Amino acid sequence: MPRYGASLRQSCPRSGREQGQDGTARAPGLLWMGLVLALALALALSDSRVLWAPAEAHPVSPQGHPARLHRIVPRLRDVFGWGNLTCPVCKGLFTAINLGLKKEPNVARVGSVAIKLCNLLKIAPPAVCQSIVHLFEDDMVEVWRRSVLSPSEACGLLLGSTCGHWDIFSSWNISLPTVPKPPPKPPSPPAPGAPVSRILFLTDLHWDHDYLEGMDPDCADPLCCRRGSGLPPASRPGAGYWGEYSKCDLPLRTLESLLSGLGPAGPFDMVYWTGDIPAHDVWHQTRQDQLRALTTVTALVRKFLGPVPVYPAVGNHESTPVNSFPPPFIEGNHSSRWLYEAMAKAWEPWLPAEALRTLRIGGFYALSPYPGLRLISLNMNFCSRENFWLLINSTDPAGQLQWLVGELQAAEDRGDKVHIIGHIPPGHCLKSWSWNYYRIVARYENTLAAQFFGHTHVDEFEVFYDEETLSRPLAVAFLAPSATTYIGLNPVSPTSLQVTVCTT
Ligand SMILES: [Zn+2]
Ligand SMILES: [Zn+2]
Repeated sequence: MPRYGASLRQSCPRSGREQGQDGTARAPGLLWMGLVLALALALALSDSRVLWAPAEAHPVSPQGHPARLHRIVPRLRDVFGWGNLTCPVCKGLFTAINLGLKKEPNVARVGSVAIKLCNLLKIAPPAVCQSIVHLFEDDMVEVWRRSVLSPSEACGLLLGSTCGHWDIFSSWNISLPTVPKPPPKPPSPPAPGAPVSRILFLTDLHWDHDYLEGMDPDCADPLCCRRGSGLPPASRPGAGYWGEYSKCDLPLRTLESLLSGLGPAGPFDMVYWTGDIPAHDVWHQTRQDQLRALTTVTALVRKFLGPVPVYPAVGNHESTPVNSFPPPFIEGNHSSRWLYEAMAKAWEPWLPAEALRTLRIGGFYALSPYPGLRLISLNMNFCSRENFWLLINSTDPAGQLQWLVGELQAAEDRGDKVHIIGHIPPGHCLKSWSWNYYRIVARYENTLAAQFFGHTHVDEFEVFYDEETLSRPLAVAFLAPSATTYIGLNPVSPTSLQVTVCTT
């Protein structure tokens, strides 16, 4: 994406002849990575909903970043004077950089460059810069080493496809079954007296464990109204008891009040809960903090909704570092196992065994809440422009879209309808992911009855059009407003969360 591309353009390495193979070669690598890390942090600390406009995710061939880079690189070759760089020297250079970066002290050196840049660019207060760099540096160096700095990727970009293959964020296609698409059948209202299911739609609760009434709602940190925000000047009031119109999340009592007040709006047959449980204090969250938010809020939802089945989806704030969702091929301590295992345990009362199995692998699942209805919960972090793990490979991460096609085809064969729930709406995804999702929605327009997402914190919808004329609307995704007030919003009242869906 442009952010990573910009850093690449600004500091491409010079030829092996001009630099040493080890120490001097690592210096631009460190600066390069430090800058990228600083930019990634800027993204994590900012309101990404403002920074990123929705993708133009319509069914036209994606003309994205890789094509542009391939056009720019030959010109840069002249500007930076690496025209004489040979393929073996290039690969030797990047192998040396990688070997250097594997050493722990180099992670710290990248981190110290990033801290300096974070301070210099005034991305956040110094304490926040320090803290978030330490949170991100290890994962970022690992990703950067395995993707952009891999000898094949880097030299493929710099010297062309004869030397390697630059595959970062390039376009890709899932395959659709050969079964012909049935003729489009416009939806018709259910017959009078047809059974109706009532579904509660909850999203973006963002519980702040450290919320403290009276603290400064307009502090310098990325999240305020909390322990550490300081007191406001005498001329301004402090954070309110229930919440605040500012860059603040919610205390537990507000979520408790919201959930306990659902009675008059109910009863509900089931709940769609589309993620983002923890607060926006992304600069110092530990795995323990995230798991406490998961279990505390899950227990609260169970307490107030009792036996009603709740179907969750994974939000981008569930992990730490925020947006960090390595695809399943990443194993060991870097993997998301710590999170998915905890989710499977917390949500076991609501999900059948097969759903728990795929949840543990990739954070997504499918189940049948009623005969005739299939519910699919997608892990939209695999489409996310902020998920830096996708730099390693962004092609249908975890095979999720191909799995979705299989689910939809099976539903079509059975004559079932399908609901999709997820966190990040499809219009906010990496372009190639969005484009493939669009193709799937268009192919299964008769089967896909509704889609529900969150993440933007506001009440809106996305419309999908036919591939041929781009003028016939064929599906809609509903985006619910957040429970949290972040940033400067009204907390959502229970009545406005309810959705009535009819099934035939
Ligand atoms: Zn959110
Ligand atoms: Zn979100």
